[in-house]
Amino acid sequence: MSMELDHYCPNCDDTKTFYRSASTTMHLGTKVKWHCPDCEYGFVRIDGDVDTGAAVDTSA
Ligand SMILES: [Zn+2]
Repeated sequence: MSMELDHYCPNCDDTKTFYRSASTTMHLGTKVKWHCPDCEYGFVRIDGDVDTGAAVDTSA
């Protein structure tokens, strides 16, 4: 699992290497908080393993 993520920061108006500030495991996957190294901007992403078969049933 990566601890860094290249992502555009609208605050810095540039692509930054975001670092992982927190993560929470939920039923949908892992909720990860990413933070810009140069300002206070951050965002949350859900990194899913969604192949458990429990989330969406398409067999109907
Ligand atoms: Zn920034």
